[in-house]
Amino acid sequence: MNGPGLLVLQLVDSRIDAIDGRRRRQPERAAFDTAANAHAALLAERARHQAAHDAASRAIEDAERAGAELDTKQRRLEAQLKTVIAPREAEALMSEIAQLQAKHADLDDAELGSMEQQAEAEAELASLAEREPALVAALDEARAALAAADAVLDAELADLTAQRAEAAAVLVASEIATYDSLRRRHGGVAVAALEKHRCSACHVDLSPVEEEQVKATPPGELPECPHCARLLVV
Ligand SMILES: [Zn+2]
Repeated sequence: MNGPGLLVLQLVDSRIDAIDGRRRRQPERAAFDTAANAHAALLAERARHQAAHDAASRAIEDAERAGAELDTKQRRLEAQLKTVIAPREAEALMSEIAQLQAKHADLDDAELGSMEQQAEAEAELASLAEREPALVAALDEARAALAAADAVLDAELADLTAQRAEAAAVLVASEIATYDSLRRRHGGVAVAALEKHRCSACHVDLSPVEEEQVKATPPGELPECPHCARLLVV
């Protein structure tokens, strides 16, 4: 087993593995999320006021139509009133006309309320339209900053990928297969170094006896850390 060669591959892979986490923890990512949330909140608020505005507009149209129908009915009754002679019949018509007028007045009140709602929604929409450009500009800026930060990591990743190919090229297939299976078993870290009596992966100190056993491993074989079972390069 090529211990030093495996250790180089491990160091490169660990740096590659760390890039995803670094990508997620970038301050530019957090700033972009904040800007995106602020803009999304504005869009949601706009949709809410737009819906209120549309509902008020429909209510106004409905009231106008119903009012026109009442007017038509009233004109017809008034025409009828001119032709009747019997006082009782005239009274009945006049009472019906009064009822129509009362209904119309209620309708006008409701329409006025809808017009107020419509005006309120319009004012809210205008205020949101004033605020939106700044939010969009901030979002664009945050997006560009994030893209620039991502590009730095992408370049680093490309460099590491090239380094990995070089590191893998000096190893044989069986070494890489062992390495890959150990990496899966040990959370991405298959190979550690013995640094001053200590395993660089699990950070446990080896006792003098353990260290002696590790160092007594025949050449060509790699010892395991007695604490975490990773390959240990002495
Ligand atoms: Zn260990």
